[in-house]
Amino acid sequence: MVRSCYVCKINNNNPESANLSFHRLPPDPAKHIIWISLLGIDREKTLPKLTLICSKHFMTRTSKMILLEESF
Ligand SMILES: [Zn+2]
Repeated sequence: MVRSCYVCKINNNNPESANLSFHRLPPDPAKHIIWISLLGIDREKTLPKLTLICSKHFMTRTSKMILLEESF
């Protein structure tokens, strides 16, 4: 299955994505809103059912993926 990042459009067929992982947006509505605002996604926009974000937009800290505002 081809997975592609909603933000930067890279997909898992791209050799540059070899070290990346793809993540769903959190189901929790409060976290969901934080993520999409940090990612610069329009809140009014209808997102595809499976919206994936690649790990380029995160950093790892104590095994949790933390979204960074500085990624953009
Ligand atoms: Zn990405």
